[in-house]
Amino acid sequence: MRRKLIAGNWKMNGSLAANAVLLDGIKSELSQASCDVAVCVPSPYLAQCKSLLSGTSIKWGGQDVSVHESGAYTGEVAAAMLNDFDCAYVIVGHSERRSYHGESSELVAAKAVRAIKSGLIPIVCVGESLEEREAGKTESVVGMQLDAVLSVIDAGDCSKMVIAYEPVWAIGTGKTATPQMAQDVHAVLRARVASKSASAAETIQILYGGSMKPDNAKELLAMQDIDGGLIGGAALKAADFLAIIRSA
Ligand code: PEP
Repeated sequence: MRRKLIAGNWKMNGSLAANAVLLDGIKSELSQASCDVAVCVPSPYLAQCKSLLSGTSIKWGGQDVSVHESGAYTGEVAAAMLNDFDCAYVIVGHSERRSYHGESSELVAAKAVRAIKSGLIPIVCVGESLEEREAGKTESVVGMQLDAVLSVIDAGDCSKMVIAYEPVWAIGTGKTATPQMAQDVHAVLRARVASKSASAAETIQILYGGSMKPDNAKELLAMQDIDGGLIGGAALKAADFLAIIRSA
């Protein structure tokens, strides 16, 4: 039985004051969480997470990582810097980075490798656009996005990452994939992992992301191959995030 992971993606939201209220709200109710919980926050708030979450069961992480080790890469954040703040996770290949920053699947794969080599767990996001879904290309699109990663990591490292299936048309739109739609794609993704490592396919956590909310989380999380959620908007309200955690 795979343990579920509920990970918040704060995106470019927050302030020191608002984060303190949010994290206090989550912490105060979380002692009995029966799943893994994490928040992926803007880099300036990693120090705050380290200070407020150390010693709790909540892990934290970044939202992107550079492929480079260090040097003249203005604006980038190195894996070693995420290590400095005791991050457990880092999101790579979120659709907002793929579309607004032109990140290719090859770059995303290189970032995943960099994260794994640095002891961080990459949350590798894959997902199709509405146009691609309507053209019947969902499996081939997410398959290619995942294969780019699988082709450059060692089989033994497949279990050191998390996959997030995030249909682009469901992110921040209030539209959610039905549990069966999501399950179908998750099963395809797990089969792809199995072709590289059968044992990793058994244990790898494949999260669903895309307008997961307290009122739809339970049925999504009940599906066989849905091992948790990557949560955007609903991760910014303690009550909603906690309700999703309780559903897991
Ligand atoms: C996300 O951006 O990863 C996400 C899933 O956002 P939302 O939950 O707001 O759709």
